[in-house]
Amino acid sequence: RESRRTAVVTGSTSGIGLAIAERLASGGFNIVVNSYTDAEADHAIAAGLARRYGVEAIYVRADMSKPAECRALVEASASRFGSVDILVNNAGIQYVAPVEEFPVERWNAIIAINLSSAFHTAAAAIPGMREAGWGRIVNIASAHGLRASPNKSAYVAAKHGVVGLTKTIALELAGKGVTCNAVCPGFVLTPLVETQIQDRAREAGLDRETTIRDILLEKQPSKEFATVEQIAGAAAFLCSEDAAQITGTTLSVDGGWTAA
Ligand code: NAD
Repeated sequence: RESRRTAVVTGSTSGIGLAIAERLASGGFNIVVNSYTDAEADHAIAAGLARRYGVEAIYVRADMSKPAECRALVEASASRFGSVDILVNNAGIQYVAPVEEFPVERWNAIIAINLSSAFHTAAAAIPGMREAGWGRIVNIASAHGLRASPNKSAYVAAKHGVVGLTKTIALELAGKGVTCNAVCPGFVLTPLVETQIQDRAREAGLDRETTIRDILLEKQPSKEFATVEQIAGAAAFLCSEDAAQITGTTLSVDGGWTAA
């Protein structure tokens, strides 16, 4: 291929998605940065990647809770750059409540953003990848794609769904140069987890450090957060040529959580 390959990273203005966009830009891929906000700062992220890494990078607003916008994100990226070679389904939200109190509207939003969006973006990206004979789909699932925790019904259901979707796409594309895998992070200190720390600290009447040690990292045998850079490194590896025969599987970056 003459031209540079292009990566679309959903939900890439913050946390893990932003680190993945940065890592793939540093590897020489053109980048499509996405979120649902369309703020000046969002466009500045894309401009910064282009400047620092000498690639082309654009911001495309699309709300991953909306099927048509998921597909339009892929279509806009392909028409701007000629192809979508890497698709990283990263956008995700969290909400914590017992099943009988779980707001229906939050359930629907989590299933839409954390699970269904990956179906829609993949459906839009796969024809081009098939035709090119090369593609990488990386779904950011979670340790909660492999294990459950109380009060996270929608999140656990969505992330288990993502792992199932990952395996199915892998089988459909096996031998076509296109792989599909899931990265399963344990706890990573991002805004998504910061909210949980503050909520749990308030409920338990504990300080921040005690909450992190006793409640949050109770699941994670290393007792250390994974970093966004470590998750980005795992995602970038799955996009590499070394990973060409890795498909339909999960790569845990969880400090031992799922070994137990
Ligand atoms: P974050 O809150 O820092 O970032 C989430 C990103 O998704 C933001 O860019 C946000 O704008 C975007 N987003 C949210 N709703 C969207 C929508 N409707 N449409 C488009 N974009 C939207 O969160 P994070 O911790 O970086 O999480 C990223 C992914 O990693 C999520 O799928 C999350 O479930 C997963 N994950 C996170 C952890 C963790 O400990 N932080 C652990 C396992 C899995």
